[in-house]
Amino acid sequence: MFKSLTAFASDQLAALEARRQRRRLASTDRHDSIHVRRGGRALVSFCCNDYLNLSAHGAVKAAAAVAIERFGAGAGASRLVTGDHPLLGELERALATFKDTEDAVVFGSGYLANLGIIPAVMGSGDLILVDELSHACILGGARLSGAQELRFHHNDMAHLETLLDQHRSSVRHALIVTDGVFSMDGDLAALPQIIELAQKFDAWVMTDDAHGLGTIGGGVGCSNAFTAPLQPELQMGTLSKALGSYGGYLCASQAVCELVRNRARTFVYSTGLPPASAAAALAALEIVRSDVALCAKPTAQAARFCEALGLPAPQSPIVPLVLGDEQSALHASAALEDAGFLVTAIRPPTVPAGTARLRFTFTAAHTDAEIDRLAGEVAKLHLSVAAE
Ligand SMILES: *Cc1c(COP(=O)(O)O)cnc(C)c1O
Repeated sequence: MFKSLTAFASDQLAALEARRQRRRLASTDRHDSIHVRRGGRALVSFCCNDYLNLSAHGAVKAAAAVAIERFGAGAGASRLVTGDHPLLGELERALATFKDTEDAVVFGSGYLANLGIIPAVMGSGDLILVDELSHACILGGARLSGAQELRFHHNDMAHLETLLDQHRSSVRHALIVTDGVFSMDGDLAALPQIIELAQKFDAWVMTDDAHGLGTIGGGVGCSNAFTAPLQPELQMGTLSKALGSYGGYLCASQAVCELVRNRARTFVYSTGLPPASAAAALAALEIVRSDVALCAKPTAQAARFCEALGLPAPQSPIVPLVLGDEQSALHASAALEDAGFLVTAIRPPTVPAGTARLRFTFTAAHTDAEIDRLAGEVAKLHLSVAAE
């Protein structure tokens, strides 16, 4: 029987509603990087990814404003046509220097970067091994590549080794991909062990450092968060979180970056990053480079919160409180909002079924007093934390 698309969409929305998975936009006015206004209420946000509060930093805003004045609001075309503003090349060189790689490529966003990079280097006859808790855009990029995709249990090196052992010899190239800092759990990938396995099985490694740049490893990210600096072949990340701007990047060898500039469809067929976004990211990167203490602050604030609640010490500024069902997470989030705190409930499909949670992200600008008050309010909820 004929069903209109609108009727189909309404049915789908009703089904999401029944599962408590329907989501709605909530217009939010962020007038600085942690104080927001939503529904007429002033709230302290513990759910922005603006870890160093650089989206509201004077030097970062000024750099963007000057670039808009001088170069306009948009790039005008894709990079390979006329959208390659000199600021983008300058940003690429600064990122490569900071990450100690030969070269870097800037994309329109982190999501676009992952959708472009993975299919540019992997294809049919290849194997991609992805940590099961990796970000959706890694899985999207893997799917677009046409390579065989297998997921290993979260940070489970024995499982990764078993999969490599079983499948490596029957494929051409193998790539292991993982979040550096897991976005919904805040833990770090076991990168030294992953690189060791990659060497043993002749595989390449790609890290997604969206939450690591500016926050761990002295601000350099997951490659510098262990005893010795590590060099995965592909190090992607975003300009949209700790750098407070917008855009994505890849740091890699010069040949790999050139191949990506030629083959990544989200680079070739999409308009270049606006010069103002690049200018803001450049100014922010300069702050990250020169202020290691600032980069350590968000995780220190997360640690203060965890200590107050008797939670394990955090490895990053992200702290999950896994409550299990959607309803508990929504209730807890609403109760914290009543107390003046914005902490979103994270629900499936963003996280696995049965692991709905509160996810707290801490920034350099949260005061000790704000954190102590938040911890007090969370304690008052008497939440029972589910095993993940
Ligand atoms: C946010 C995020 C992205 C996407 O980056 P955008 O610049 O926001 O598109 C990619 N990977 C991870 C792990 C993320 O958390």
